[in-house]
Amino acid sequence: MKNNEIVIGLVGNPNSGKTTIFNALTGARQKVANWSGVTVEKREGVLKQNGHTIKIVDLPGIYSLSSYSIEEIVARNFIINENPDVIINVVDAGNLDRNLYLTTQLIEMGAKVCLALNMIDEAKSKGLIIKTDILGTLLGMPVVETVARKSIGIKELIDSAITVAEKRSQKTRHLHLDYSHDIENEISKIQSCIWSNHLIGEKYSTRWLSIRLLENDNDIIDKLKDYPNYNEIINQGLQSRRLLEKKFNDDVETILSDMRYGFISGALKESIKKTALKRIDISKHIDKITINKFLGFPILLIFMWLLFQLTFTLGEYPMRLIEIGVEKLGLLIENILPAGSFNDMITDGIIGGVGGVIIFLPNILILFMGISFMEDTGYMARAAFIMDKIMHKMGGLHGKSFIPLVIGFGCNLPAIMATRTLENRRDRILSILINPFMSCSARLPVYVLFCGIFFKESAGNIILSLYLIGMFFAFLSARLFKYFFFKEESAPFVMELPPYRIATFKTIILHMWDRSSQYLKKMGGIILIASIIIWILGEYPKSPEINAKYNTLINELEESYSIHIKDMEKEFGQGSEQVNMFLLQYKTEKQNLLLKEKEEKIRHTFIGIIGGLIYPVIKPLGFNWQMGISLTTGFVAKEIVVSTLGVLFHTSEDPEIIETSLEEMLKREEYGITPLVAYTFMLFVLLYIPCLATIIVISKEAGLSWALFSLFYQLTIAWITCFLFYNTSLLLGF
Ligand code: GDP
Ligand code: MG
Repeated sequence: MKNNEIVIGLVGNPNSGKTTIFNALTGARQKVANWSGVTVEKREGVLKQNGHTIKIVDLPGIYSLSSYSIEEIVARNFIINENPDVIINVVDAGNLDRNLYLTTQLIEMGAKVCLALNMIDEAKSKGLIIKTDILGTLLGMPVVETVARKSIGIKELIDSAITVAEKRSQKTRHLHLDYSHDIENEISKIQSCIWSNHLIGEKYSTRWLSIRLLENDNDIIDKLKDYPNYNEIINQGLQSRRLLEKKFNDDVETILSDMRYGFISGALKESIKKTALKRIDISKHIDKITINKFLGFPILLIFMWLLFQLTFTLGEYPMRLIEIGVEKLGLLIENILPAGSFNDMITDGIIGGVGGVIIFLPNILILFMGISFMEDTGYMARAAFIMDKIMHKMGGLHGKSFIPLVIGFGCNLPAIMATRTLENRRDRILSILINPFMSCSARLPVYVLFCGIFFKESAGNIILSLYLIGMFFAFLSARLFKYFFFKEESAPFVMELPPYRIATFKTIILHMWDRSSQYLKKMGGIILIASIIIWILGEYPKSPEINAKYNTLINELEESYSIHIKDMEKEFGQGSEQVNMFLLQYKTEKQNLLLKEKEEKIRHTFIGIIGGLIYPVIKPLGFNWQMGISLTTGFVAKEIVVSTLGVLFHTSEDPEIIETSLEEMLKREEYGITPLVAYTFMLFVLLYIPCLATIIVISKEAGLSWALFSLFYQLTIAWITCFLFYNTSLLLGF
């Protein structure tokens, strides 16, 4: 404790209410960052009380203090290195037998702890009576009952934490969890080995180190590397470990964890009473149906179906409104600003580009609201539970990966951020890497466009087939990655089923906003910049020669037309069939000229040059060069594939010209798009690349090298798949 400044760390299992307590304590005065070097979220806040300045750090949710996951290591390093004055250990009072496991490890580390017995309201309604005072005495720390959600007990908690920090708590007592004689023997052997170097004891509790070494904790072994007596310590650790394993015929971790659980169950026997009038545990009853062997899965499917229905049907109305709004805004600005490049950039580039993405906001909001609702009520945990076995079989995935995959159908960005609920880094990276195969809503416009033209009758089935193919590749890739990169078994874990809660509107909205604002921020920035860049690439360098050339051609055409039309009218009469034919022929010719001009101009812009460069690569897949360009720009965001095609094939607003829609243009024979090419193209769009924003998020969450890997992996998969599909189909005569 320096100058009345107290540092408090909040430690607890996921879902024990840490963040709620943190918020109740710090209110709005908090900042969010990542722990240095890893992508685990770090929340810090400051609070003033009784003349103290108190810094509170919300540590990641963990089940134990071993080193199975980065979260555990982060929490542990915080306790060792930053030397907090007190740890507030938040536990779910209704699940003490499991939650206290972490507490036993905190005791072992020698941390100064104050226990927050949170969710005491739920514990009581389950019929539990907890003798807080006795529990505190047994654990050697003050225990405070809290209901964080209603800010009950928060003041007492902080007061109690301050007494611990000031070393005047009457409950604080140094405690040893006693292991049996054999184990204690080995612990002291290692301990005396460590003692031969006093420096170590200044930083760590030597008893804790010895226990960790018995449990073969690689992180600890690493930490000791720099001490001169490293080899002796490690050897002693190894010897003791072998000895115990021989004696008990079991691995040391299991033996020790059994003993910790034994300690807990002993402590709880003395401090908890269940009332005779045990309330029916409603959650258990609901679970009888929702995670039933036969009913669970169909119920889950129904919920998912509902979620998507809501997202897409309900989202449609505000989507239309925004679409109209964006259009109006574009027109307005076009009229206000003086005509010229700047005007074009704002209206075509920025409003066109960003507007195209903003349109999806309502869908995203609704999707996230639904997901927040499922999470807050506790249903998502059941979904993960139900899916766990299936996910395991399909791709060696964790049940919790299911949620990010579902979100991925909406947008891969928040989905990748949602993988933060996975405790284990390997599982996380795996889920992140396969997520872009989930067909996100940005790909839908491409499907809709091409199915509308080439597969009118069977559009639904065709689109469904793409979704399924995406899922197939997700699971296939999971298998491959698991085999090549993540061979080791994942950490043991408990699939928790927290009790159902009635979700409050406020928390749902808050959670929804949390996700959506992250999405908006990232999307807004990236798409904005990309839109400007694409616009510039598609506009420059200008080619006045082409302009001049076509101007002369068109002038010539118009002249010859105006001469001939007079003759024609004289000969056949105004409005006669021949004159009309002539007019039509003229219009078509003019349109063709304009199109050719556009094509030639684009070929000379940067985008055209890029398109030309990649054309040889995509030609074997049956695509034309315009498709190649749209795929290039679609790298930024897949919606842009459609808008680029629109730009490339859009003729002109010239009223003299026959209006030709994008659909009709794409159908023209000269562009060579057959149904087979169209399907291959959709397949490519599905697989080829995570969009730019996704890549950026992947590199933030998993590291740049994984992001680059993901990029090349998907490109390769897409190309090979499409090449094989297209060419075998051709051979088979489709
Ligand atoms: P964390 O994972 O430990 O940060 O847990 P959160 O703070 O996110 O809380 C998990 C859930 O428990 C949220 O839905 C909270 O609203 C709820 N919660 C937190 N404290 C209490 C409490 O004291 N009583 C009840 N009934 N619910 C709580
Ligand atoms: Mg939290």
